[in-house]
Amino acid sequence: MINEKNIEKIFGTLEKYLEEKSMIQKFVDENFNPFQILVATILSARTKDEQSEKISRKLFQKVKEPRDLLNFSEMELANEIYPVGFYRTKARNLIKLAKVLLERYNGKVPEKMEELLELPGVGRKTANIVLAYAFNKPAIAVDTHVHRIFNRWKFVKTKRPEETEEELRKKLPKRLWRKVNNLLVNFGKNICKPINPLCRECPINSICPFPKHKDKKILLQ
Ligand code: SF4
Repeated sequence: MINEKNIEKIFGTLEKYLEEKSMIQKFVDENFNPFQILVATILSARTKDEQSEKISRKLFQKVKEPRDLLNFSEMELANEIYPVGFYRTKARNLIKLAKVLLERYNGKVPEKMEELLELPGVGRKTANIVLAYAFNKPAIAVDTHVHRIFNRWKFVKTKRPEETEEELRKKLPKRLWRKVNNLLVNFGKNICKPINPLCRECPINSICPFPKHKDKKILLQ
């Protein structure tokens, strides 16, 4: 059983077991600025981490602040960020984003959730990642991995990532909030995969309530 009493221990076990860092954690460790963290997070939506990391690193050789993005036309930027998912829409949003940041925020990324949510192409998950990783604020960034894993653990019983975030805010100690995304995205990609999770190799399989090995049908993806 995984619950509020042992969750910190579970996090500790997973931290020791997993060495790989998420793209965003690597960028934070390498001192990329909040604007670059924001752009990388937008690029990573519906795109594999490896792909978005490669494209982000290439883009960041030319783009360090919002005005740098305005050196590209929409089509040039789309070509630059291809093949990330929805590259045309993302290129359009990134150019709008750069303009809004320059016009309203003097080229800086705002540090409040409400302001972040008003930016083009920024949803709740992106805003939470920026708050947690770029500004070191307590925020829980819930993506499909985080949502799936906490439900498999029966730590929450929710249908949508937004509900998971709400529940985790009530149940998870604040000191763990910032760790959630980096840790569980990594765990979800490598062990607790959406389809065929590697339960036999999992370091917490003795207490996980997921019906492992019993049925190939995965209950929650
Ligand atoms: S035992 Fe299986 S379902 Fe449970 S956390 Fe580990 S990999 Fe995920």
